[in-house]
Amino acid sequence: MLVDAHCHLRGGEEEIEATLARARKAGVGGFVAVAAELADAEPVLTVARRHADVVASLGVHPHEASTWNLEGEARLEGLLMAPEVRFVGETGLDWHYDLSPRDVQERVFRAQIGLARRLGKPLMIHTRAAGLETLRILREEGTPVVPGVIHCFSEDRTFAQAALDMGFYLSFSGIITFKKAADIAEIAAWAPLDRILVETDSPYLAPVPHRGRTNEPAYVVHVARHLASLRGLSFESLVEQTTQNLEALCGWAPSS
Ligand SMILES: [Zn+2]
Ligand SMILES: [Zn+2]
Repeated sequence: MLVDAHCHLRGGEEEIEATLARARKAGVGGFVAVAAELADAEPVLTVARRHADVVASLGVHPHEASTWNLEGEARLEGLLMAPEVRFVGETGLDWHYDLSPRDVQERVFRAQIGLARRLGKPLMIHTRAAGLETLRILREEGTPVVPGVIHCFSEDRTFAQAALDMGFYLSFSGIITFKKAADIAEIAAWAPLDRILVETDSPYLAPVPHRGRTNEPAYVVHVARHLASLRGLSFESLVEQTTQNLEALCGWAPSS
């Protein structure tokens, strides 16, 4: 069963149901639904509670770091305890957009690393234009028992090796299908087979042949197919391996 290891399910209940139904029809058997801000955390958890094939990742994205406060942290910690929540995040640094001040991003990232460690749940990490800083903070904080995943991998090979050495998994998105991202595709082909995942990061970054349109979890099939061909594997074995990897990382895989 193919799993979309990172998607944002937007819209009302009916729209989300329709999105999930299209993905299931395309052969997607599991979903890691991600909340990027506190306001999304409860709705995402509700979707995960309603569907056996959906688990949640709850956190505050670096874009939203300015909204962080102690009351919010306490609320997030409470929600993170739910068994349907398998990851803490997305959290990390985004120095490309700089939508929150860098020092605030760093403080909020450190706070969520602390939550992951306390709760024993893996991190869902977003890093953009801040690779060295992300690695530095993870080293300084000490990795949680189960480190986590670098989602939508878009760094270089040195970063990949450092993250792998720290025990992280690398999750590849539709970027690997873009002609101009040959360097990312190369890393996706090179990374250890037992440490890779596939995701859409929908509604962003639709893979070829849907590039430019709104992305959705059904399209993770294109990411998986492309990654299988890059690695010279059958689609079936790539699916089996990435789903096993997700289970090894977060203790959950779709049951049938
Ligand atoms: Zn992200
Ligand atoms: Zn995301």
